[in-house]
Amino acid sequence: MATIPEFDPTIQTLTPEWYQHKVDGVDMLRLDIIHPVVSGNKWYKLKHNIAYAQENKYDTILSFGGAYSNHLVATAAAAKQYNIKSIGIVKGTYAAGKLTSTLHDCINYGMLLEFVSHEDYAKKSTPAYLEKLCIKYNNPLIIPEGGANEWGREGSGEITHYIHDEYTHLCVSVGTGTTLIGLRNTLPNHVIVQGYAPMKGGVYLQHEIEKHVIPTLRKSCMLFDNWHFGGFGKWNDDLIEFMNSFYKTHDIPLDIVYTSKMMSGVRDQILSGFFPEDAKILCIHSGGLQGNVTVKEKLDY
Ligand SMILES: *Cc1c(COP(=O)(O)O)cnc(C)c1O
Repeated sequence: MATIPEFDPTIQTLTPEWYQHKVDGVDMLRLDIIHPVVSGNKWYKLKHNIAYAQENKYDTILSFGGAYSNHLVATAAAAKQYNIKSIGIVKGTYAAGKLTSTLHDCINYGMLLEFVSHEDYAKKSTPAYLEKLCIKYNNPLIIPEGGANEWGREGSGEITHYIHDEYTHLCVSVGTGTTLIGLRNTLPNHVIVQGYAPMKGGVYLQHEIEKHVIPTLRKSCMLFDNWHFGGFGKWNDDLIEFMNSFYKTHDIPLDIVYTSKMMSGVRDQILSGFFPEDAKILCIHSGGLQGNVTVKEKLDY
């Protein structure tokens, strides 16, 4: 059986025409290529959770996500690969005939789905609710939404392994902030780590940074939420055009939820002179391409 990851990530250099020589260089770390489903940052966040489940003889893992969640489908696929049963607690109720393609994939990987109201979903990290789930599902290993736990941060830190020390800036998309925190805590202090939130008001993630980033490294960590394009999961024709043109220039498919918004922000910042001229920027392609099915008619890839 194939392993996860199937391929090593690679670093791809973006063309100077794209950043108009305003900085010294822009590269992209292609985490999207490591596996067709457990792609991008998701594998790194899951790997130590899976290892823990195996070592401690858990036969089931349980996690949380929305109907388009990259994390949920990655969890389902990884669990199947390692012969662990999986349960997904899904935000919102979807009738059997109205499942999203992400949820269909989860089911096809053997994940048992439980649909809960937004109200119940909001309780997803309270001890009483977790206790109820433990009893109902016979003590599964519970992984928080987005893989946002200590093992998630530790695994994300291992992405640093692929990053040379020539870079001055690292750009990464943020959801729970787990990937950014793991990277920030393992990269040298001189690298400025910039997080791009794809939702409105995403700078609330500053709280997570304060909680988990080593205090001496916090100053070299920045968050931006200007490039939300209307909110989480929302998009407009400009974003689609940006994705198609980026693909045409670089042969890199971006995803509609996270990496397209980040790269749009990075490009605006480069062109407006936000970065110093000698900046060597590394952007993380954190995957998420499965979510593009919702806009596939509009994309040239
Ligand atoms: C899940 C996801 C993120 C967010 O990662 P966090 O560690 O939760 O911040 C970013 N990009 C893509 C493509 C994702 O699927």
